[in-house]
Amino acid sequence: MESSSYQDNGLEILKDVDANGKERDWKGKKKRARLMAKHHAAVEKLAKKAERMYDCGNYLVFKMKDGRLKLYQAYFCKARLCPMCNWRRSLKIAFQNKKIIQTVNDREKVKWVFLTLTVRNVEGEELKPTMDQMTKAWNRFAGYAKFKKSVRGYFRAMEVTRNWDKESEWYGTYHPHFHVLLAVPTNYFSKNYIKQSEWTDMWQRAMQLDYTPIVHVAKVKPKAESTNLVEVEQELRKTILEQNAIFEVSKYPVKDTDVIRGNEVTPENIQTVKDLDKALAYKRLISYGGLLKEIHKELQLSDAEDGDLIHIDEDSDELANGALDVMAYWHVGLNNYVISRRKTND
Ligand SMILES: [Zn+2]
Repeated sequence: MESSSYQDNGLEILKDVDANGKERDWKGKKKRARLMAKHHAAVEKLAKKAERMYDCGNYLVFKMKDGRLKLYQAYFCKARLCPMCNWRRSLKIAFQNKKIIQTVNDREKVKWVFLTLTVRNVEGEELKPTMDQMTKAWNRFAGYAKFKKSVRGYFRAMEVTRNWDKESEWYGTYHPHFHVLLAVPTNYFSKNYIKQSEWTDMWQRAMQLDYTPIVHVAKVKPKAESTNLVEVEQELRKTILEQNAIFEVSKYPVKDTDVIRGNEVTPENIQTVKDLDKALAYKRLISYGGLLKEIHKELQLSDAEDGDLIHIDEDSDELANGALDVMAYWHVGLNNYVISRRKTND
Protein backbone atom coordinates (compact mmCIF):
# COMPACT_ATOMS: atom_id res chain seq x y z
CA MET A 1 0.00 0.00 0.00
CA GLU A 2 1.57 3.25 -1.07
CA SER A 3 0.81 6.54 0.47
CA SER A 4 0.14 9.41 -1.79
CA SER A 5 -0.10 13.16 -1.94
CA TYR A 6 -3.47 12.98 -0.25
CA GLN A 7 -1.78 11.99 2.93
CA ASP A 8 -2.22 15.57 4.07
CA ASN A 9 -5.96 15.06 4.40
CA GLY A 10 -5.26 11.82 6.19
CA LEU A 11 -6.54 9.96 3.14
CA GLU A 12 -4.73 7.10 1.54
CA ILE A 13 -5.33 6.10 -2.09
CA LEU A 14 -5.90 2.45 -2.99
CA LYS A 15 -3.09 0.74 -4.84
CA ASP A 16 -3.74 -2.84 -5.88
CA VAL A 17 -0.92 -4.55 -7.73
CA ASP A 18 -1.17 -7.93 -9.49
CA ALA A 19 1.35 -10.79 -9.51
CA ASN A 20 3.24 -9.18 -12.40
CA GLY A 21 3.58 -5.88 -10.56
CA LYS A 22 0.98 -4.21 -12.73
CA GLU A 23 -1.48 -1.95 -10.97
CA ARG A 24 -5.10 -3.04 -11.24
CA ASP A 25 -7.15 -0.27 -12.78
CA TRP A 26 -9.97 -0.04 -10.22
CA LYS A 27 -10.14 3.71 -10.59
CA GLY A 28 -10.35 3.66 -14.39
CA LYS A 29 -13.04 0.97 -14.41
CA LYS A 30 -15.05 2.75 -11.74
CA LYS A 31 -14.93 5.99 -13.73
CA ARG A 32 -16.09 4.20 -16.87
CA ALA A 33 -18.85 2.49 -14.90
CA ARG A 34 -20.07 5.87 -13.63
CA LEU A 35 -20.06 7.26 -17.15
CA MET A 36 -21.93 4.18 -18.39
CA ALA A 37 -24.42 4.62 -15.53
CA LYS A 38 -25.00 8.22 -16.61
CA HIS A 39 -25.95 6.98 -20.07
CA HIS A 40 -28.32 4.42 -18.58
CA ALA A 41 -29.86 7.12 -16.39
CA ALA A 42 -30.74 9.07 -19.52
CA VAL A 43 -33.08 6.25 -20.58
CA GLU A 44 -36.21 6.06 -18.46
CA LYS A 45 -36.58 2.33 -18.34
CA LEU A 46 -32.89 1.84 -17.54
CA ALA A 47 -33.06 4.06 -14.45
CA LYS A 48 -32.95 1.16 -11.99
CA LYS A 49 -29.98 -0.37 -13.75
CA ALA A 50 -28.30 3.04 -13.70
CA GLU A 51 -28.67 3.26 -9.91
CA ARG A 52 -27.14 -0.14 -9.39
CA MET A 53 -24.34 0.71 -11.80
CA TYR A 54 -23.54 3.94 -9.92
CA ASP A 55 -23.11 1.80 -6.80
CA CYS A 56 -21.08 -0.91 -8.54
CA GLY A 57 -17.79 -1.40 -6.73
CA ASN A 58 -18.42 1.48 -4.32
CA TYR A 59 -16.91 -0.51 -1.48
CA LEU A 60 -14.15 -3.04 -1.78
CA VAL A 61 -12.86 -5.22 1.00
CA PHE A 62 -9.55 -6.95 0.48
CA LYS A 63 -7.53 -9.42 2.48
CA MET A 64 -3.80 -9.06 2.49
CA LYS A 65 -2.25 -12.27 1.19
CA ASP A 66 1.45 -12.77 0.46
CA GLY A 67 1.90 -9.03 0.48
CA ARG A 68 -0.79 -8.51 -2.14
CA LEU A 69 -4.40 -7.48 -1.95
CA LYS A 70 -7.01 -10.11 -2.63
CA LEU A 71 -10.60 -9.02 -3.12
CA TYR A 72 -12.81 -10.49 -0.43
CA GLN A 73 -16.09 -8.60 -0.47
CA ALA A 74 -17.67 -6.17 -2.90
CA TYR A 75 -20.92 -5.25 -4.55
CA PHE A 76 -21.04 -5.61 -8.31
CA CYS A 77 -24.16 -4.66 -10.27
CA LYS A 78 -23.78 -7.44 -12.88
CA ALA A 79 -25.35 -5.38 -15.66
CA ARG A 80 -24.38 -6.56 -19.13
CA LEU A 81 -22.86 -3.24 -20.15
CA CYS A 82 -21.13 -2.37 -16.89
CA PRO A 83 -17.40 -1.73 -17.52
CA MET A 84 -16.52 -2.70 -13.94
CA CYS A 85 -18.42 -6.00 -14.12
CA ASN A 86 -17.16 -6.79 -17.62
CA TRP A 87 -13.61 -6.25 -16.45
CA ARG A 88 -14.19 -8.77 -13.65
CA ARG A 89 -15.85 -11.17 -16.12
CA SER A 90 -12.88 -10.88 -18.50
CA LEU A 91 -10.41 -11.65 -15.73
CA LYS A 92 -12.48 -14.63 -14.67
CA ILE A 93 -12.86 -16.00 -18.20
CA ALA A 94 -9.15 -15.55 -18.89
CA PHE A 95 -8.25 -17.37 -15.70
CA GLN A 96 -10.70 -20.21 -16.39
CA ASN A 97 -9.64 -20.61 -20.00
CA LYS A 98 -6.01 -20.73 -18.99
CA LYS A 99 -6.80 -23.52 -16.53
CA ILE A 100 -8.90 -25.41 -19.06
CA ILE A 101 -6.32 -25.13 -21.83
CA GLN A 102 -3.56 -26.24 -19.48
CA THR A 103 -5.58 -29.25 -18.39
CA VAL A 104 -6.41 -30.22 -21.95
CA ASN A 105 -2.78 -29.87 -23.06
CA ASP A 106 -1.71 -31.87 -20.05
CA ARG A 107 -3.91 -34.84 -20.78
CA GLU A 108 -4.73 -34.91 -24.44
CA LYS A 109 -2.95 -34.51 -27.68
CA VAL A 110 -4.80 -31.71 -29.38
CA LYS A 111 -4.09 -28.75 -31.57
CA TRP A 112 -5.82 -25.39 -31.42
CA VAL A 113 -7.60 -23.46 -34.11
CA PHE A 114 -9.26 -20.05 -34.04
CA LEU A 115 -12.42 -19.54 -35.98
CA THR A 116 -14.30 -16.29 -36.50
CA LEU A 117 -17.84 -16.47 -37.84
CA THR A 118 -19.50 -13.29 -39.00
CA VAL A 119 -22.66 -11.99 -40.59
CA ARG A 120 -23.34 -8.71 -42.34
CA ASN A 121 -23.79 -5.64 -40.15
CA VAL A 122 -27.30 -5.01 -38.92
CA GLU A 123 -29.32 -2.02 -37.68
CA GLY A 124 -30.08 -1.67 -33.98
CA GLU A 125 -33.55 -3.13 -34.19
CA GLU A 126 -32.30 -6.22 -36.03
CA LEU A 127 -29.52 -6.88 -33.55
CA LYS A 128 -31.39 -9.02 -31.05
CA PRO A 129 -33.13 -11.28 -33.61
CA THR A 130 -29.83 -11.67 -35.47
CA MET A 131 -27.98 -12.68 -32.32
CA ASP A 132 -30.73 -15.16 -31.42
CA GLN A 133 -30.52 -16.57 -34.91
CA MET A 134 -26.74 -16.88 -34.59
CA THR A 135 -27.05 -18.84 -31.36
CA LYS A 136 -29.46 -21.27 -33.00
CA ALA A 137 -27.23 -21.46 -36.07
CA TRP A 138 -24.24 -22.26 -33.91
CA ASN A 139 -26.04 -25.28 -32.50
CA ARG A 140 -26.77 -26.54 -36.02
CA PHE A 141 -23.19 -25.78 -37.05
CA ALA A 142 -21.68 -27.69 -34.11
CA GLY A 143 -24.04 -30.56 -34.83
CA TYR A 144 -22.83 -31.14 -38.39
CA ALA A 145 -21.14 -34.52 -38.85
CA LYS A 146 -18.04 -32.82 -40.22
CA PHE A 147 -17.72 -30.57 -37.20
CA LYS A 148 -18.20 -33.44 -34.77
CA LYS A 149 -15.58 -35.51 -36.54
CA SER A 150 -12.99 -32.74 -36.63
CA VAL A 151 -13.55 -30.90 -33.37
CA ARG A 152 -13.07 -32.24 -29.86
CA GLY A 153 -14.15 -29.17 -27.95
CA TYR A 154 -14.62 -25.44 -28.14
CA PHE A 155 -14.90 -22.12 -26.35
CA ARG A 156 -17.24 -19.72 -28.10
CA ALA A 157 -17.74 -16.03 -27.42
CA MET A 158 -20.21 -13.75 -29.15
CA GLU A 159 -18.96 -10.22 -29.63
CA VAL A 160 -20.76 -7.15 -30.88
CA THR A 161 -18.98 -4.13 -32.26
CA ARG A 162 -20.46 -0.95 -33.63
CA ASN A 163 -19.38 0.98 -36.68
CA TRP A 164 -18.41 4.49 -35.49
CA ASP A 165 -17.05 5.67 -38.82
CA LYS A 166 -19.24 8.53 -39.96
CA GLU A 167 -17.82 8.22 -43.49
CA SER A 168 -18.85 4.59 -43.80
CA GLU A 169 -22.07 3.38 -45.37
CA TRP A 170 -22.31 1.03 -42.39
CA TYR A 171 -22.12 3.88 -39.89
CA GLY A 172 -24.19 3.21 -36.77
CA THR A 173 -24.76 -0.46 -37.60
CA TYR A 174 -23.73 -3.40 -35.43
CA HIS A 175 -21.46 -6.30 -36.17
CA PRO A 176 -22.25 -9.41 -34.12
CA HIS A 177 -19.77 -12.24 -34.59
CA PHE A 178 -18.43 -15.36 -32.93
CA HIS A 179 -14.85 -15.90 -31.79
CA VAL A 180 -14.25 -19.59 -31.34
CA LEU A 181 -11.32 -21.50 -29.97
CA LEU A 182 -11.40 -25.08 -31.24
CA ALA A 183 -9.52 -28.08 -29.88
CA VAL A 184 -8.87 -30.38 -32.82
CA PRO A 185 -7.30 -33.86 -32.92
CA THR A 186 -3.61 -34.00 -33.86
CA ASN A 187 -4.48 -35.59 -37.20
CA TYR A 188 -6.78 -32.67 -38.03
CA PHE A 189 -4.38 -31.12 -40.53
CA SER A 190 -3.70 -34.43 -42.28
CA LYS A 191 -6.96 -36.34 -42.05
CA ASN A 192 -9.95 -34.39 -40.80
CA TYR A 193 -9.02 -31.00 -42.16
CA ILE A 194 -11.78 -28.50 -42.84
CA LYS A 195 -10.83 -25.91 -45.42
CA GLN A 196 -11.72 -22.25 -44.99
CA SER A 197 -14.24 -22.51 -47.84
CA GLU A 198 -15.89 -25.47 -46.10
CA TRP A 199 -16.15 -23.63 -42.79
CA THR A 200 -17.75 -20.78 -44.76
CA ASP A 201 -20.24 -23.10 -46.47
CA MET A 202 -21.13 -24.72 -43.16
CA TRP A 203 -21.73 -21.35 -41.50
CA GLN A 204 -23.75 -20.06 -44.45
CA ARG A 205 -25.90 -23.20 -44.33
CA ALA A 206 -26.36 -23.06 -40.55
CA MET A 207 -27.28 -19.35 -40.70
CA GLN A 208 -29.43 -19.87 -43.81
CA LEU A 209 -27.84 -16.86 -45.47
CA ASP A 210 -28.36 -15.89 -49.09
CA TYR A 211 -24.86 -14.42 -49.25
CA THR A 212 -21.40 -15.73 -48.48
CA PRO A 213 -20.43 -14.72 -44.94
CA ILE A 214 -16.89 -13.79 -43.93
CA VAL A 215 -15.22 -16.58 -41.98
CA HIS A 216 -11.64 -16.54 -40.69
CA VAL A 217 -9.67 -19.59 -39.64
CA ALA A 218 -6.21 -19.52 -38.11
CA LYS A 219 -4.02 -22.20 -36.67
CA VAL A 220 -2.58 -21.60 -33.24
CA LYS A 221 1.09 -22.50 -33.24
CA PRO A 222 2.48 -23.08 -29.80
CA LYS A 223 6.22 -23.73 -29.52
CA ALA A 224 6.94 -27.10 -31.04
CA GLU A 225 6.04 -29.87 -28.61
CA SER A 226 6.73 -27.71 -25.60
CA THR A 227 5.97 -29.49 -22.39
CA ASN A 228 6.18 -26.31 -20.39
CA LEU A 229 2.54 -25.41 -19.87
CA VAL A 230 3.22 -21.85 -18.94
CA GLU A 231 5.13 -21.51 -22.18
CA VAL A 232 2.29 -23.03 -24.17
CA GLU A 233 -0.18 -20.64 -22.58
CA GLN A 234 2.12 -17.69 -23.17
CA GLU A 235 2.54 -18.73 -26.77
CA LEU A 236 -1.19 -19.07 -27.13
CA ARG A 237 -1.70 -15.60 -25.70
CA LYS A 238 1.00 -14.22 -27.94
CA THR A 239 -0.61 -15.82 -30.95
CA ILE A 240 -3.95 -14.39 -29.95
CA LEU A 241 -2.41 -10.93 -29.81
CA GLU A 242 -0.54 -11.43 -33.03
CA GLN A 243 -3.58 -12.54 -34.96
CA ASN A 244 -5.23 -9.27 -34.11
CA ALA A 245 -6.90 -7.79 -31.09
CA ILE A 246 -10.09 -9.25 -32.51
CA PHE A 247 -8.88 -12.71 -31.56
CA GLU A 248 -8.76 -12.05 -27.89
CA VAL A 249 -11.21 -14.82 -27.27
CA SER A 250 -10.91 -14.82 -23.54
CA LYS A 251 -12.05 -11.27 -23.02
CA TYR A 252 -15.63 -10.74 -22.09
CA PRO A 253 -17.11 -9.76 -25.40
CA VAL A 254 -18.59 -6.38 -24.54
CA LYS A 255 -16.01 -3.60 -24.70
CA ASP A 256 -17.25 -0.43 -23.11
CA THR A 257 -15.27 1.64 -25.60
CA ASP A 258 -17.50 0.08 -28.24
CA VAL A 259 -20.60 1.14 -26.35
CA ILE A 260 -19.76 4.70 -25.42
CA ARG A 261 -17.21 6.98 -27.04
CA GLY A 262 -15.52 9.87 -25.32
CA ASN A 263 -16.23 11.13 -21.83
CA GLU A 264 -19.55 12.82 -22.38
CA VAL A 265 -23.13 11.67 -22.53
CA THR A 266 -24.12 12.00 -26.18
CA PRO A 267 -27.31 11.04 -28.06
CA GLU A 268 -25.26 8.61 -30.16
CA ASN A 269 -23.88 6.92 -27.07
CA ILE A 270 -27.34 6.73 -25.51
CA GLN A 271 -28.76 5.11 -28.65
CA THR A 272 -25.97 2.52 -28.58
CA VAL A 273 -26.64 1.77 -24.91
CA LYS A 274 -30.34 1.32 -25.68
CA ASP A 275 -29.66 -0.99 -28.63
CA LEU A 276 -27.10 -3.11 -26.83
CA ASP A 277 -28.99 -3.31 -23.56
CA LYS A 278 -31.98 -4.67 -25.43
CA ALA A 279 -29.96 -7.11 -27.52
CA LEU A 280 -27.86 -8.46 -24.68
CA ALA A 281 -30.59 -8.83 -22.03
CA TYR A 282 -30.57 -12.37 -20.65
CA LYS A 283 -28.32 -13.42 -23.48
CA ARG A 284 -25.48 -15.79 -22.84
CA LEU A 285 -22.45 -14.63 -24.77
CA ILE A 286 -19.99 -17.37 -23.95
CA SER A 287 -20.21 -21.13 -23.96
CA TYR A 288 -18.10 -24.25 -23.87
CA GLY A 289 -18.56 -27.49 -25.78
CA GLY A 290 -17.19 -31.03 -25.87
CA LEU A 291 -13.91 -31.62 -24.09
CA LEU A 292 -13.68 -28.02 -22.87
CA LYS A 293 -17.15 -28.17 -21.38
CA GLU A 294 -16.33 -31.43 -19.60
CA ILE A 295 -13.16 -29.97 -18.13
CA HIS A 296 -14.92 -26.73 -17.14
CA LYS A 297 -17.34 -28.93 -15.20
CA GLU A 298 -14.70 -31.22 -13.78
CA LEU A 299 -12.63 -28.31 -12.48
CA GLN A 300 -15.83 -26.98 -10.90
CA LEU A 301 -15.36 -23.60 -12.48
CA SER A 302 -18.30 -21.34 -11.81
CA ASP A 303 -20.28 -19.23 -14.23
CA ALA A 304 -18.14 -16.33 -15.41
CA GLU A 305 -21.04 -14.46 -16.94
CA ASP A 306 -23.67 -14.27 -14.22
CA GLY A 307 -21.85 -15.81 -11.29
CA ASP A 308 -19.58 -14.55 -8.53
CA LEU A 309 -17.42 -11.65 -9.70
CA ILE A 310 -15.46 -11.35 -6.47
CA HIS A 311 -13.52 -14.61 -6.36
CA ILE A 312 -12.35 -14.87 -9.89
CA ASP A 313 -9.04 -16.67 -9.78
CA GLU A 314 -8.77 -18.83 -6.69
CA ASP A 315 -10.90 -20.46 -4.08
CA SER A 316 -11.96 -18.03 -1.42
CA ASP A 317 -11.24 -20.49 1.35
CA GLU A 318 -7.54 -20.09 0.72
CA LEU A 319 -7.76 -16.85 2.62
CA ALA A 320 -6.91 -17.41 6.22
CA ASN A 321 -9.19 -15.98 8.83
CA GLY A 322 -7.54 -13.25 10.73
CA ALA A 323 -5.79 -11.95 7.66
CA LEU A 324 -5.51 -8.22 7.48
CA ASP A 325 -8.56 -6.47 6.06
CA VAL A 326 -8.14 -3.52 3.80
CA MET A 327 -11.26 -1.57 2.97
CA ALA A 328 -11.52 0.95 0.20
CA TYR A 329 -14.39 3.16 -0.86
CA TRP A 330 -15.03 5.32 -3.89
CA HIS A 331 -14.49 8.97 -3.03
CA VAL A 332 -16.65 11.04 -5.37
CA GLY A 333 -14.77 14.27 -4.70
CA LEU A 334 -11.33 12.80 -5.24
CA ASN A 335 -12.51 10.58 -8.09
CA ASN A 336 -10.51 7.76 -6.62
CA TYR A 337 -10.57 4.88 -4.16
CA VAL A 338 -9.62 5.78 -0.63
CA ILE A 339 -8.63 3.36 2.12
CA SER A 340 -11.17 3.68 4.88
CA ARG A 341 -9.81 1.35 7.52
CA ARG A 342 -7.68 -1.62 8.19
CA LYS A 343 -8.21 -4.08 10.94
CA THR A 344 -6.66 -7.23 12.20
CA ASN A 345 -9.17 -9.75 13.43
CA ASP A 346 -7.27 -12.53 15.16
ZN1 LIG B 1 -21.23 -3.42 -12.44
